Amino acid sequence: MPTELPLRLFFALKCPSDLGEAVCNWRDSQEIGGRPVALANLHMTLAFLGNQPGAAVEGLEQLAASVRVDVFTLRLDQLLMIGKDFACLTPSHSPSPLNQLVEQLHAALSTHGVVLDARPFLPHVTLSRRVQALPDLQPRPFQWSVDRFGLYRSDSTPRGVLYSELARWSLANPRH
Ligand code: ATP
Ligand code: MG
Repeated sequence: MPTELPLRLFFALKCPSDLGEAVCNWRDSQEIGGRPVALANLHMTLAFLGNQPGAAVEGLEQLAASVRVDVFTLRLDQLLMIGKDFACLTPSHSPSPLNQLVEQLHAALSTHGVVLDARPFLPHVTLSRRVQALPDLQPRPFQWSVDRFGLYRSDSTPRGVLYSELARWSLANPRH
């Protein structure tokens, strides 16, 4: 019987294309350097699952469907270096629905037996990698209306990493 290759999975917010274009235009007009992330790949990781068997996807989809969080606005207002050399946009304030989304996902994943990285969640959108030093500048804030999250698989290809959306879920519209 052929052994199925595991899938490299993560839950994330995918940057909408109009926001992504504005972010890329701003990034490319600054001297950030490094290896820019492709527009189609701009995202914020909520939970990184690493390698999982393909058969796990259905269970992951079920647990994600139990998440109940209202739509929210994310204000990306800081340019920071994260890790050794990642230039990232981050929110100086992490809105509570974002924290709830991450907490609910992490709790459901842990109940499901998925072991996550022990590092605390750090909301960020990576703009460029292998950046030497950041120019001293701050973005005009980018407003992101977040109304969904998704489950993605990540594949390394000769043309660079490719993310494919396996499923997506809408956030709730709060009652007036
Ligand atoms: P590549 O590793 O091929 O350069 P990538 O980092 O974009 O590309 P992945 O390594 O598959 O692709 O990671 C997918 C997402 O998960 C990225 O946002 C990455 O920063 C995040 N991620 C990867 N490893 C971890 C980890 N151990 N903990 C938290 N997030 C992670
Ligand atoms: Mg990586």
